[in-house]
Amino acid sequence: MRLERVTYGKVQEYLKKSDMIVIPVGSTENHGRHMPLGTDTLIPNRIIELLEEKNDVMVAPTIPYGATDTLMGFPGTISIGVDGLVMVLTKVTDSLRRYGFRKFVILNGHGGNNKSIEIVGMNLYKKGCLLADLNWWLMAGELNPAWKGGHGGGEETAAIMGVDPSLVDMSLIHEDMNLIDDYGPEMKTTGWGTVDYKGATVIIPREMIHYSANGWYGKDRPDTATEEWGKEMLQSFVDWMDDFLKTFENVKLPEAEKD
Ligand SMILES: [Zn+2]
Repeated sequence: MRLERVTYGKVQEYLKKSDMIVIPVGSTENHGRHMPLGTDTLIPNRIIELLEEKNDVMVAPTIPYGATDTLMGFPGTISIGVDGLVMVLTKVTDSLRRYGFRKFVILNGHGGNNKSIEIVGMNLYKKGCLLADLNWWLMAGELNPAWKGGHGGGEETAAIMGVDPSLVDMSLIHEDMNLIDDYGPEMKTTGWGTVDYKGATVIIPREMIHYSANGWYGKDRPDTATEEWGKEMLQSFVDWMDDFLKTFENVKLPEAEKD
C-alpha cells in the first residue's frame, strides 16, 4: 500500500492493524560510465513493486537523495550529506510517529546512507520505536555469496538489468577497475577511501573521482552481469523481505526513555 496513493482515512484504518511502514531511501550518484545516476533509487523502487505483489505493508514515498559526498565531482551526483539525511529522516519519521507508526523499515539502496540511518534508528529507539535497516545489496550477497559485489560492479549492474536492461550500456565497460594511487606509490589505493602504507590500511576520506578511473568499484566486474541474475536476485531478496516484515511486525517495542 503506497502512502501517496491512499487517503488519510485508509491510513487511519491501516494503523488499527499495524504500526509498521517501509521507507525506501536511495541516492542520486555516479555508478560508473555504464549505469544511470538513479541506480540506488531505481533498485529499491523495483523491490517495492515486487513486494507489493505479496505484502500490503504501508510504503512511504522513496527519498531519492542520500549522503554521497565521496562521489561528488562526477557530474550529476547530488549529496545532501550525512547531516542532511539525518534531518530528512528525522522529520519524516517524527511526522509518521505522530499518527501512531512505531516500526520503521528502511529499504536502503546506498552504503553511504548508513551512518545517518543508524543515528536516526537509535534516536527512534529512545522514543520507544524500532528501525530496521535493510541494505539489499549486502543481504543479497549473504543470501547467495555468488551475488556479492561492489559499487557499480556485477551485482548492482545485474540488479539494474533486472529493473530494465536498456538502462545499462555494456559497450562502455572495457577496462579493469584501474584504481589510481592518488597519494603516490608509497601509499597504494586499496579501496573505498583507503590506502595501504607498509602493510597496514589507513582511511583517508576523499572523493572517489581522484582514485577511480571509471567510477565503478568492486571485485565483481560489471560485464559479468546478466538480466537473469538480476531478476532472480531481486525476487529472492523480496521473498526474504516479505518473511522478515511478517516477523518484525510481532517484535516487542522498547520502552521510551523518560525525560
Ligand atoms: Zn549503488
